[in-house]
Amino acid sequence: MSNRVVEGRMVTADRLAELIEGERPMESEAIEDADRECPDCGGNVLQVGYMPSVTEFVTGYKCQDCAWSDDDRD
Ligand SMILES: [Zn+2]
Repeated sequence: MSNRVVEGRMVTADRLAELIEGERPMESEAIEDADRECPDCGGNVLQVGYMPSVTEFVTGYKCQDCAWSDDDRD
């Protein structure tokens, strides 16, 4: 099962990456549980690896319960 509930809605990996990035990724991997808590609300954080462009691979993080998100860019 790769779909997860985020902010009350079922999302695919592509959709989760889109929520984090603001744009649909070229490719995305399966959604996983990140080993961290949301700094805003303490909720569960999901992670997804995706390619915003052909030359870039990013791991994005998104809280399941609120609007918080982050990525591993410097
Ligand atoms: Zn949160």
